[in-house]
Amino acid sequence: MSSSCPGSPAPPTGLVTRTYGSFCEVRVGRETLGCRLRGRLRLEQGGILTGDRVELELTGPGEGVITAVLPRRTELRRPPIANVDLTIVVFTLRSPPLNLQLVDRLLALARHEGLEVVLCLNKMDLYSGSDVSHVREYYAGSGFELVVTSAKLRENLEELVKRIGGRVAVLAGQSGVGKSTLLNAVVPGAELAVGELSPKVQRGRHITRSVRLMPVGDGLVADSPGFVNLDLPAVEPRELAGLYPEMAPFAAGCRFADCLHDPEPGCAVKAAVAQGLVNEGRYQGYLDLLHELQSRPKY
Ligand code: GDP
Ligand code: ZN
Repeated sequence: MSSSCPGSPAPPTGLVTRTYGSFCEVRVGRETLGCRLRGRLRLEQGGILTGDRVELELTGPGEGVITAVLPRRTELRRPPIANVDLTIVVFTLRSPPLNLQLVDRLLALARHEGLEVVLCLNKMDLYSGSDVSHVREYYAGSGFELVVTSAKLRENLEELVKRIGGRVAVLAGQSGVGKSTLLNAVVPGAELAVGELSPKVQRGRHITRSVRLMPVGDGLVADSPGFVNLDLPAVEPRELAGLYPEMAPFAAGCRFADCLHDPEPGCAVKAAVAQGLVNEGRYQGYLDLLHELQSRPKY
């Protein structure tokens, strides 16, 4: 619902970077305003999330009232954040050791939520080039961009920031891969404790602060990791192959339209794996996830 009348100028719009109950911080251009939510809105629209795009009325210097919440393009539940565009999946080869199953699971979850993906292989100061080429090969056909960084030595961080562009990003990845260190390195003043992303800070008695979006280059990045819950509850087995960009195009050539690319004869995906057109390891990882989905209890 918009508060504008025909002929009047469009109301200013902004992006919610943090919420405290019915009070929010809203970024309008490069400025951050303190805004209240018009009372009615809370009831009508079920509250407001960090990442919401809103219409507002300016009520004073640095202050406004939110009059409408624009429709959400995406909505993550953990962390609760709207309109995320991009997931940066952070991983390492050592400390903690490479876990491709976990990385592939995060990629599938992100794509299932309709998010774009960038892979960030961090801690490059600990590896040699040949270690990295193994990973490059594994993801070569996927089309996912891979940025190799060292948060510690501040190497290639501008590459990562460039990939975010003007978008809203969330970092994902197992504990210890360097997410807080990366955020501290690219967001001036982030000051996240290393080894501790977004602790729940109590403010007053009942208000726990929400996810914060922090400026990075022309874009924004969340201070809490995405996809902490690694379940794939909403993914149907037949949807899974569609989340693997290098497999999806071959599926059209399978003999059976509902082929899951597992035991079926005449499977074009398996043929592509045999010809080296789809990475064997990625395909095996797909099968593992597929079997997990097929064996989960049905309610
Ligand atoms: P998070 O759990 O993903 O947020 O990881 P942290 O940012 O807390 O980092 C875990 C550990 O890895 C800390 O001891 C960091 O100092 C270290 N670390 C982070 N980035 C790098 C890196 O690029 N190279 C090396 N060698 N260590 C790093
Ligand atoms: Zn098939």
